[in-house]
Amino acid sequence: MMLPPPVYFFSNRMGRIILRAMEEILGQSEGNDVLSYACLPEYVNQYRFCNQDLKFPFEHLSRLQAGLVDVYGSRAGRGLGLRIGRASLKYVLQDFGHDLGLTDPAFRFLPLPARLKGGTEALADLFNRFTDQRVCLEMDRKQIYWHIERCPLCWQRKADRPCCTLAVGLIQEALGWVSGGKYYLVEEKNCVACGDSKCTIIIDRIPVS
Ligand SMILES: [Zn+2]
Repeated sequence: MMLPPPVYFFSNRMGRIILRAMEEILGQSEGNDVLSYACLPEYVNQYRFCNQDLKFPFEHLSRLQAGLVDVYGSRAGRGLGLRIGRASLKYVLQDFGHDLGLTDPAFRFLPLPARLKGGTEALADLFNRFTDQRVCLEMDRKQIYWHIERCPLCWQRKADRPCCTLAVGLIQEALGWVSGGKYYLVEEKNCVACGDSKCTIIIDRIPVS
């Protein structure tokens, strides 16, 4: 007998961050169109409660991200996913910045490599603490490998190229923020939707500019 797939969740508050960022980028009306298209009518004109209950299913996140590509096409949908991921950062900082120590003035005065490492670790910790998503980091001299085990964004999806754009956008924006405006190359190399065992996002530790 086939067992049903396990069910994993984001906290309501983390899901709400994505919904707010989507509304910011698309506007309410187009945001609602994507939600309707993705068969998520429960979020139309309505955010989740702002609490830490683990009740925002992974499947809803993956439908939302796939909805962007379905409604706008592959290229524009991916671009929007990146932008929504980037826009999520300020809501993350509003809701969790203090908890993560990122808004602490002492953090802002650390040398850049320490801020990059500390910022990436704090962001990974956010997912590990408040969602069922598991992020594990690996670092070498040149790169940081952001491994997502149990990725909600491509949950039960198939894709011909890595598709977890919301995560890439959020990481990019977070690194820009911790570095005071530098731009780091961030790219998803492996993705469960492409048949890989986990989603791996690679961050260059040397900024482009
Ligand atoms: Zn993924």
